Amino acid sequence: MRHPVVMGNWKLNGSKEMVVDLLTGLNAELEGVTGVDVAVAPPALFIDLAERTLTDAGSAIILGAQNTDINNQGAFTGDTSPAMLKEFGATHIIIGHSERREYHKESDEFVAKKFAFLKENGLTPVLCIGETEAQNEAGETESVCARQIDAVINLLGAEALNGAIIAYEPIWAIGTGKAATADDAQRIHASIRAHIAEKNADVAKNIVIQYGGSVKPENAAAYFAQPDIDGALVGGAALDAKSFAAIAKAAAVAKAQ
Ligand code: PEP
Repeated sequence: MRHPVVMGNWKLNGSKEMVVDLLTGLNAELEGVTGVDVAVAPPALFIDLAERTLTDAGSAIILGAQNTDINNQGAFTGDTSPAMLKEFGATHIIIGHSERREYHKESDEFVAKKFAFLKENGLTPVLCIGETEAQNEAGETESVCARQIDAVINLLGAEALNGAIIAYEPIWAIGTGKAATADDAQRIHASIRAHIAEKNADVAKNIVIQYGGSVKPENAAAYFAQPDIDGALVGGAALDAKSFAAIAKAAAVAKAQ
């Protein structure tokens, strides 16, 4: 039985005040909610404050991050290492987000190295995959997703996906308000799971596959009603405690059935 995970990607948003207000508000909204893991990925600079805020509140919210380097220390200006993330309590680390693939030219192979280094450091990779609008229109969605996952499988073997999270995020749906339909998302999730099953059926059965792309309280329940959608990676709606909590609650309700 897969446990749903709803994660908020704050991207380049926040201030000290916002971190405290949002996390305090979210923690209150989630009181008594069980059956879903809720995680947040603030900008790296605010992870320290986020950890202290969550600890003070006795919160079960999982702390994450938006990126990692592939070294733990050394001459790598501007980067953040798994060891540092771990020291500040961040466990769920987003890698391969389409914004990093696009703006920082991160290749499938580089993302796979990040995956490997997170695993080596005992952290949970949240591996983002997904197609562009042009690839979608050309009918290439399944092959693009397979290629992005294969970069990890070729480097580490399918067993390395054990305990990791995959976030299927059609790029054309991120931050656009143009979400995939629940049926289309389910079809792609099923194909991702089937692709992994060709290598290892157990890993495929157990891996959490989140949908991401304009998830809102209004559309969340439809995604979570799908058998292969195990949660969500949420951008815009994660910046509002009530909206993000409503999405998490929808996952808990749907997956309890
Ligand atoms: C994201 O950034 O991963 C994302 C899914 O953003 P949004 O929910 O705003 O589309």
